[in-house]
Amino acid sequence: MAFLPVYHERNMKNIAQLGDKTKKVVLAVYAEAIKEEINILIYSTIRTIEEQKRNVASGASKTMRSYHLVGQAFDVVLCDGPVDNWNGYGKPDFIKFIAICKKNGLTWGGDWNNNGTSRDETFIDSPHFQLGSIGYGNDSFETKGIAELPKPVVVKVDVVKPASEVKPTVKPISKPIVKPATKPIVKPKPVVVKPKPKPKPKAESIKKIGTIKIINVSNAAIICDVPSSTKSQNIGLAPIGSRLPISGSVSGWFEVIYKGKRDYVNEKYGRLV
Ligand SMILES: [Zn+2]
Repeated sequence: MAFLPVYHERNMKNIAQLGDKTKKVVLAVYAEAIKEEINILIYSTIRTIEEQKRNVASGASKTMRSYHLVGQAFDVVLCDGPVDNWNGYGKPDFIKFIAICKKNGLTWGGDWNNNGTSRDETFIDSPHFQLGSIGYGNDSFETKGIAELPKPVVVKVDVVKPASEVKPTVKPISKPIVKPATKPIVKPKPVVVKPKPKPKPKAESIKKIGTIKIINVSNAAIICDVPSSTKSQNIGLAPIGSRLPISGSVSGWFEVIYKGKRDYVNEKYGRLV
């Protein structure tokens, strides 16, 4: 496998937390994304009740029946090299990724009713995918912490045998990528390339889905370029009481439309109005 997403190790660790059935589907999806050389970061899978309560209180999430709580959902962002591209949800690679997910039975948060358009959705959660077909909370956790990428290897069958004896030609041979470490293996630390945020493309297609009011700050809330308190750069300030249009949310953050671009305000500092 020549291509691997920059965040492959982190992706596998996060996938390893999913429920067994969901994990199987997500691993198949992920393997196909790798084949298509789609550089993604799966930044969130399972979520605690406390985290979800905060998301619902802030309006970032709509339900306490989140599929994240039961290990049947994940959130993903497209990357440009090591840089998370939070404006990448309309990019060809992400559209391809959505198609792979749908083909494997996952529901996308940008098209809940799976009718091929986001226009009729009232709440768009672009990074979100979930496995709803098995029912809510029906997954098991026997393989928690373990994820193995399916690696199809073609096994030649030379002798013609009766159909019942013919072995499948494609047999997944898997090598565990992530498993609970019994012996720590000393490995040189990978060189961390500091992601340098690129100037964001003009996103005239950002759709407003609501408005937040800035709260819980003494003066103003910081507007960040990415939804991360450690990796973001400050883009601007939103004074307390001011209102900002939003285009959606990602875990813990509102996606605000600021100067025509998509930026982020921590959910603690905004309330849907
Ligand atoms: Zn989600």
